Amino acid sequence: MTVRARREPLLVRAGARFDCVGDGLCCSDIHAVGALSDEDCQMLEMISEDAVDRHEGEDAAVLMMRSDTGRCVFWGEDGCAIHARIGAQLKPTPCIQFPYALTATPSGGRISTQHRCTCRTLGQLPPVRAEAAKPCLLDSDGELKPEHAVFDEVFWTRNEPLSFAEYSAREAGLIGSLLEGTKLTTVLDAQPFPTLEAMSWSEVADEMLDFQGPTRAAFAARWFGDAIAFLSDRRERTERGRPWDDAFERAGERVVDPVSPNEVFGDWIADEIWAMRWTRFGSLARARSELATRLAIARRIAGWLDISSPKQDNISAAEAVMIVDVIGTTDAWEQVQEAFPEP
Ligand code: SF4
Repeated sequence: MTVRARREPLLVRAGARFDCVGDGLCCSDIHAVGALSDEDCQMLEMISEDAVDRHEGEDAAVLMMRSDTGRCVFWGEDGCAIHARIGAQLKPTPCIQFPYALTATPSGGRISTQHRCTCRTLGQLPPVRAEAAKPCLLDSDGELKPEHAVFDEVFWTRNEPLSFAEYSAREAGLIGSLLEGTKLTTVLDAQPFPTLEAMSWSEVADEMLDFQGPTRAAFAARWFGDAIAFLSDRRERTERGRPWDDAFERAGERVVDPVSPNEVFGDWIADEIWAMRWTRFGSLARARSELATRLAIARRIAGWLDISSPKQDNISAAEAVMIVDVIGTTDAWEQVQEAFPEP
């Protein structure tokens, strides 16, 4: 019998929390806001002839960012102008969807959340609800649009295929341990910085440090490269500022009851596992090694930021997660992921 990947029922990961409070970090050049659909482009071009950015030689159109502020051309003091003046549901599709993502599985559609967003990582937040997330996950035909699909064979290790039901039962224990927020390295039980196939960690660090330009995404890449260079070669860190510090300090004002950095990191890793995008690269054992590597990088970056009080420690952990989440979605890191060995 063929087991199909289903979009419904919608499934929410235990402990996932999110509320858009309009911090606006997701509307900045920490990433390209796209890919825009043809309908998005037509609507945006009716509003402004400078709204859409089409890079020569690239398939996808993305929203134009202002070079002076590093923010979307529609972003202002009061937040998104389209949201305020035209309506939330008429924003471009990627804006409506962010930070939600959908993975179709044999049990239904898993809703996950991305953590490059202060509205996801800082302060007291309500639980993610499937009814609230569903309208954000529809395409222009009103259909649920998964970004990834998983079928009825999941590799726990390269030699241990499991049915999806067996995998889910084991995964529940793993995610529960991650959410306890203690001993994350022990829970992951995987080697960070394994020997890569056909590239070295020094080369990966240099490639990240080579990201040029004033965008927040380029700054994130250089922080990431610094952490790899320090952890793999003990190279000194390059001095630089934090172009996103205003957003984090502002969002940090919501933090009245700080959580530990390990709770921030455990929540992020739990979503990375729950989203199952890692199945594109191989087994969960391999994904655990990749996550152990990004966890080590995030901890190094958080340690370089302000950890002078429990509140600042909480904010710095969220900022470090933002950086590793931004870089985790780049083509450059995808190539590194392909070079991870199967343990
Ligand atoms: S269109 Fe609005 S929601 Fe989308 S990136 Fe621009 S300001 Fe943000």
